[in-house]
Amino acid sequence: MTDIQRRGLLLVMSSPSGAGKTTLSRRLLASDPNITMSVSVTTRAPRPGEVNGKDYHFIPQEEFVRLRDRGELLEYAEVFGNFYGTPKRPVTEALQAGRDVLFDIDWQGTQQLAQAMEEDLVRIFILPPTAEELRERLIRRAQDSSSTVAKRMAKAADEISHWPEYDYVIVNNDVNVASAEIDAILTAERLRRRRQVGLTQFVRELTKAL
Ligand code: 5GP
Repeated sequence: MTDIQRRGLLLVMSSPSGAGKTTLSRRLLASDPNITMSVSVTTRAPRPGEVNGKDYHFIPQEEFVRLRDRGELLEYAEVFGNFYGTPKRPVTEALQAGRDVLFDIDWQGTQQLAQAMEEDLVRIFILPPTAEELRERLIRRAQDSSSTVAKRMAKAADEISHWPEYDYVIVNNDVNVASAEIDAILTAERLRRRRQVGLTQFVRELTKAL
């Protein structure tokens, strides 16, 4: 029988900072070998504990501009005065190999991906359970200066206003439940007919043998 190949998908997770998105994406990456993280380039300074090449590729602004002008970024945006962008090549290579790619990008980048590759895109928006919880998580993280925390709180309402542009919305009340919900979305989206390349051939062979 012909193997049913699968076309990879692009899974975007957006949320305001502090909604628990980083924990959720780490869990997904650890539990699912078929999905890889898209490592963005950014002009922002690394936070303590962040690893260059793993969390981000930390680059100077001139290099960012060069990559952007050469068309090597799939999407890019300015967030909190810094530039962020997705390198194109690793994404196209993963898709061709039938692997899925996870993106931690904001609504601006998600809109650009939707314009370029809507068929391949699955969009999840993560909401914090309450405003209080969001504030506490930002303060607990305390890796940013207090003025940045205030800026991020102010920005949260703006980011949240884009929830209707996403396919799925998860309220992150309990990280175990939210993780299971993300797994369920991924399982279902992988089974979409259009993503199962070679299905026609498979069914043809199957019915011939009936
Ligand atoms: P942070 O500085 O907290 O790591 O990220 C700030 C915001 O930038 C987050 O909302 C994150 O999703 C977004 N972001 C990170 N990388 C990219 C990217 O490559 N493109 C876009 N559009 N947003 C990004």
